[in-house]
Amino acid sequence: MTHRIHLLTTGGTIAMQASDKGANLGAPPPFAAMLGRALPDVEIVVRPVLSKPSSGFSFADIAAIARAAQEAASQDDGVVVTHGTDVLEETAFALELLTRTDTPIVVTGAMRNASQPSADGDANLIAACIVASAAEARGKGVLTVFDDEIHWGPLAKKRHAFRTHAFSSEPFGPLGWVREGKVRFLLTPERRLPKLAWGGGAPVIPILEVGPAMEPAVLEQLTRCDALVLALPGGGHISDATPALLEAMAAKIPVVFASRTGGGETLSHSYGYPGGEIDLIARGLIPSAWLDARRARVALAILLSAGASRDDILAFFRGL
Ligand code: ASP
Repeated sequence: MTHRIHLLTTGGTIAMQASDKGANLGAPPPFAAMLGRALPDVEIVVRPVLSKPSSGFSFADIAAIARAAQEAASQDDGVVVTHGTDVLEETAFALELLTRTDTPIVVTGAMRNASQPSADGDANLIAACIVASAAEARGKGVLTVFDDEIHWGPLAKKRHAFRTHAFSSEPFGPLGWVREGKVRFLLTPERRLPKLAWGGGAPVIPILEVGPAMEPAVLEQLTRCDALVLALPGGGHISDATPALLEAMAAKIPVVFASRTGGGETLSHSYGYPGGEIDLIARGLIPSAWLDARRARVALAILLSAGASRDDILAFFRGL
């Protein structure tokens, strides 16, 4: 049976060629011809959405990818997005928030461009198309496929700067894999994330990672932002020199704190000292639950773009 896959291209290393000045984007790579040879039962419709290195994407670019994916999902059996690996995790997370469909939406890319030895782009793209055409992938939300592993998009992170096995869902694992042209799922995501809408604009939302010797003056520099995300030690803890300042900031803009540990989630009922999470919550800061700072920032950008109030933002993070 022939499956129709919509391939949305956005740039990234998977679309780059080497030159004497380093890898860069050029003419669109012959994805359709390569896939036609590798997967004769799959009909590929290629639609270029963007052509950029992903670290240059704006939130509006990511929203445009989501719009194209939602549209493609209503027309075809599956959707594959090729993307630069650098901020792929933010886009995969945003796609889960901004699209709603049972049609598989699969994001992939490459760590080595097509001119490099053992380039991984073709293999990743073939695996992504196999997953996108699989009945088993329906209803599982946005998936990230790399190195024959299938990850739940919101959990997959780029964990290495250059090796080909760069993506991992630690401290969890992949939902399944691709073997000899077939998919095998052993896990399924317990939940889908709430559906949000992109409202436009370019919200300014820095992430501040906090450690020892936290200077309150750093926070004073950040008062002109639309929102602030703090990546805090442990379950959400900061120096006792900062809570009054943070309270004043939280009265003006959403201030969300995440755990910088990469595991578990923010606490809410454990530590009551000044700068402990109980104190921060009482002063109006919002815990990000299991979202890390990067994902909290993406969610905040989307919420603020649609005019969300502080209560809407609180409800979103509480509902995770
Ligand atoms: N710089 C590339 C990007 O667009 C890196 C990659 O695709 O691996 O994210």
